[in-house]
Amino acid sequence: MKSYISTWPQAAPDLPFPRTLAVLGCTGSIGVSALDVVGQHPELFRVAALAGGRNARRLAGQAARFRPALLAVLDDGVADELRTLLPAGYAPEIVTGPEGYTAAATLPEATLVLSAIVGAAGFLPTLAAAQAGKRIALANKESLVLGGSLIREACRKSGAVVLPVDSEHNALFQALCGHADAEGKELSRLILTASGGPFRGRDAAFLAAVTPEQAMSHPNWSMGAKISVDSASLMNKGLEVIEACHLYGLPVQRVDVLVHPQSIVHSLAEYVDGSQLAHLGVPDMRIPIAHCLCFPRRVTLDMPRLDLAQVGGLTFERADEALFPCLRLAKEAYAASPSHPAVLNAANEAAVDLFLTGAIGFMDIPRLIEAELERHAGLGPAPDARALLDVDARTRRSVREAAAK
Ligand code: NAD
Ligand code: MG
Repeated sequence: MKSYISTWPQAAPDLPFPRTLAVLGCTGSIGVSALDVVGQHPELFRVAALAGGRNARRLAGQAARFRPALLAVLDDGVADELRTLLPAGYAPEIVTGPEGYTAAATLPEATLVLSAIVGAAGFLPTLAAAQAGKRIALANKESLVLGGSLIREACRKSGAVVLPVDSEHNALFQALCGHADAEGKELSRLILTASGGPFRGRDAAFLAAVTPEQAMSHPNWSMGAKISVDSASLMNKGLEVIEACHLYGLPVQRVDVLVHPQSIVHSLAEYVDGSQLAHLGVPDMRIPIAHCLCFPRRVTLDMPRLDLAQVGGLTFERADEALFPCLRLAKEAYAASPSHPAVLNAANEAAVDLFLTGAIGFMDIPRLIEAELERHAGLGPAPDARALLDVDARTRRSVREAAAK
């Protein structure tokens, strides 16, 4: 428990309002929800930087509204398009590529960074924000899977604080805050809930034939394409088990998964006396986002309230790891070596891309990942960022080659 990634929840130092914010991944599902929260409480925030990917039109609309001095995009082509879309009289600095994202993540005037780029592309900006001592509202779970130990070490050195946006980890944060002792000795385990995704209860023959459209239609949450496919394969829950281990410093054997199709109970912390503390809410990411952006304050949110009488029943069941091997692969990767999770993550990203373009089937995703994990020999006890990113690049190439055979 001492290895909690930033600082024990109740010890996070206060950050004055208005808070100056950099949003990485502003044009995505999380980014849009975050700017909705900011728009509901303009007195609490100044937006200093917005970083998007390719969607110049959406970024231009957001920039025209919040007027940050710095914008970041993927490349010069997107930057040129963006310039033509900005309103007259507003001329922010526009930066590009990984250096541009890192500049947004470390902007001196921004004290709060929302890390919501999808995939391993979020790792270096998140690490840079940690090194720069920012308070980081972290949605980009892949950066913890890839290099959680490096991010934790950077936080320890700089005093940066990571607050988890991911709904399960945010639920745990709330169930731990003010309850767990500093050593974590009174905590017995963490229970991550999972919706089970769109294919819960289906059989192997059905899974082998599913289309990207079916995989992307999540029953409860509206999210980006990659995390939607991860939710369908249960890889999302596998990545979240690793994320929880890094955030809360528990061994993987003390992080359990419970399928809960209604997505109302967002996770539970179990204490040594048998008490389980849960966090409940409607499945809307604006709740954990606002919690992180405003912590330790709570703010009103204009959205439907949870009505348990209307929900009627909450049900729970065990995850089917035989049918959804990604969950097992993630736990095995975390136990295998400090670099196996980087292989898991990169193989998954490459395989999900191939699945989304129709090049491979849904059940080829775990097959390709497992082959990469078996091939990987490990990089020793403490790989640095460069070594992990080399493994990431090599694994992606290897998955594409294997899929083309
Ligand atoms: P999304 O696909 O909707 O948005 C991704 C954002 O990242 C966009 O702004 C996109 O332009 C940007 N981006 C994509 N590739 C990039 C690259 N190579 N370099 C820089 N920017 C790039 O994804 P999302 O659903 O918003 O998820 C974002 C992150 O939050 C993911 O790590 C996901 O696992 C996590 N998360 C999302 C949800 C959710 O409800 N959507 C919940 C929990 C955690
Ligand atoms: Mg989640």
